Amino acid sequence: MREELLREIEIELEAIRRENEQTEQRRKEEISNLFPEIAALTRERENLVFGTLRDILRGGAKAEDLPEKMKQLNQQIRTKLEEKGYPADYLAPVYRCPICKDTGVIGETIKETCECVKKRYQAMLRRDLGLTGSEQQTFERFRDDVFSDEKAPGSNFSVREHMLLVKSNCEQWANQYPKCEKRDLLLYGPSGLGKTFLLHAMASRLIERNIPVLLVSAYDFLQTTRNEYFGGGNITDDLMNVQVLMIDDLGSEPMVQSVTVEQLFRVINGRQNKNLATVISTNLSLEEFKKRYTERIASRMTDIRNCKMLPLIGKDIRRCIQLTAKEADA
Ligand SMILES: [Zn+2]
Repeated sequence: MREELLREIEIELEAIRRENEQTEQRRKEEISNLFPEIAALTRERENLVFGTLRDILRGGAKAEDLPEKMKQLNQQIRTKLEEKGYPADYLAPVYRCPICKDTGVIGETIKETCECVKKRYQAMLRRDLGLTGSEQQTFERFRDDVFSDEKAPGSNFSVREHMLLVKSNCEQWANQYPKCEKRDLLLYGPSGLGKTFLLHAMASRLIERNIPVLLVSAYDFLQTTRNEYFGGGNITDDLMNVQVLMIDDLGSEPMVQSVTVEQLFRVINGRQNKNLATVISTNLSLEEFKKRYTERIASRMTDIRNCKMLPLIGKDIRRCIQLTAKEADA
């Protein structure tokens, strides 16, 4: 887990705990102002706890009666609150997460991270990768009805069947990684067929499975590596060492000849040597890919022993949708 995100979560939990205390205090004051008889019961409960503690410390322990008395008092308070039209637990401690009581950890001797922290962490990763919002792209939201039922060029399948096949390959890979058949993926084909969507969906699934993933556009990839190239530094640790690196829309970035190719080679080669996965999407055909990035890179991303190649076939669905919308208007 990334340190800076864990710190952010710890700060959030602290704020939540403070807010809980304020809520408890506010409710206590409200009830004691409105209903003195309930306030009397809560005071009795406090005195019971502190009185028993005092007795124990003085050696005259009689703690065995405490649980039963507490139970009775709690019940009285709950009943009274309900009579007044409040929830029975209105004066109980307030927690957003009842499992860890907003501490973020569970377990007495062996401390474990609570599910709520894992959820927060995943949400932050999604936020950092730009995977949030109502347009969240996940496999569950994949729509095959936007694809045509016409036969895909040069294939026995329709475009829709073909896309469903590609989607199921991507989903299976994201479900199984690192225990998948092929470590790397190359999604290639014309633009507007949902390659970015599939990359986002895979990243979302990997995050759900707690697998570190970094998704960058080819443009950002080039900027980062170029700055380092001219600055004389090393390629960022993240690009080199994250378990899964996804580069979206390779081929769309401006070509700075020796830099682009050299840095891309270093990253892909370095990652393959460490057996870390790289997923690339590109609008280029395999021929164009080879031409632009040289045989050296192409051979690494098209090596069928390690890389699954997923060709996307069909027309730009964004254009199809626009056309259909225009037809409907007409
Ligand atoms: Zn929790």
